Amino acid sequence: METGERIINWYFHNQRELPWRGTKDPYLIWISEIIMQQTRIQQGLPYYLRFVKRFPDIFHLAEAPIEDVLLIWQGLGYYSRARNMHEAAKNICNSYNGIFPTHSKDLLKLKGIGSYTAAAIASFCFGEKIPAIDGNVNRVIARIFDINEPVNTGKGITIIKKLAEEMLSNNEPGTFNQAMMDFGSAVCVPSTPHCPDCPVKPNCLSFENQTMAERPVKVKNQKIKLRYFIYVLFMNQNKTLIVQRIKNDIWNSLFEFPLWEFSEPATVDSLLKSERFKSIVSGIDSAKMKIFTMPAHKLSHQTIYSQFVIIETDALPSLMGSAEVHLNELEHYAFPTLIINFLTQYKKEIDNI
Ligand code: SF4
Repeated sequence: METGERIINWYFHNQRELPWRGTKDPYLIWISEIIMQQTRIQQGLPYYLRFVKRFPDIFHLAEAPIEDVLLIWQGLGYYSRARNMHEAAKNICNSYNGIFPTHSKDLLKLKGIGSYTAAAIASFCFGEKIPAIDGNVNRVIARIFDINEPVNTGKGITIIKKLAEEMLSNNEPGTFNQAMMDFGSAVCVPSTPHCPDCPVKPNCLSFENQTMAERPVKVKNQKIKLRYFIYVLFMNQNKTLIVQRIKNDIWNSLFEFPLWEFSEPATVDSLLKSERFKSIVSGIDSAKMKIFTMPAHKLSHQTIYSQFVIIETDALPSLMGSAEVHLNELEHYAFPTLIINFLTQYKKEIDNI
């Protein structure tokens, strides 16, 4: 039996029950695929359900303010996904009358839709014969064919794509693509593939050569950038200042507290010596500050070391671009996970006072 057929047979008996399975609605498939990128199913599922409840179709999403979209997305990370979806939804409504393009090459023109998502939508919803290749599929193919070429180089990508197209050619594309994804996340898993029970074992070259642990080969990615943040919560009668991030950097459009960023490890002394800080407040007694040091916060290509400094002031300073909010109102704003983690810790501390 050929390999694709074996995987599809396995899938018919073992496919995961997911709310978007069985639908051919491109909006729902799109939302599910974007939310599940870089996210485990258990974590992403509640986000998917909340998202489609709040934005049941493309028009609701396109018409919503970006702040509402980010609020639903809060805690999921990789916020550019939410901003890109919002842009793409507006584009589909304005340029396509709210109807999704049906071919992958047109889907690829939409913001935030890469080759994997375009192939998933086009094959699941419109039957296009195109493989959807994500990390799971890369791993499965690299193992079945015992590919020694790194899968994240141009040459490796071409090899995997060609093999995936060959496997797909005799099968229904939507079913084949979903079967490969489920098979990769349930059987041919990253660290300990379930080879003894695997239906593909008779066809698997890396099982024959016992190279499963070395597949897929990858070249190392770029260096991790280290960043040092000190956030200041100026406090007056349970009110504080927040600022919306507008720079082309991480967390664009999310909210945060006034930030001092340093190029090397920073302490409260570094903050007190900063000219910008001195121009806003003076005569602060550092003994009266409350300082929270957070664990290192890891993003895909950055690690952030952060401290949060609470300063009680007689009046909130005037800071360009900032807004005054009561602590009880913070839940109406979308913050990055680092700040949500701090707020959780801070709230516990306040509750214990
Ligand atoms: Fe993956 Fe092992 Fe099955 Fe090969 S035999 S496809 S390595 S689970």
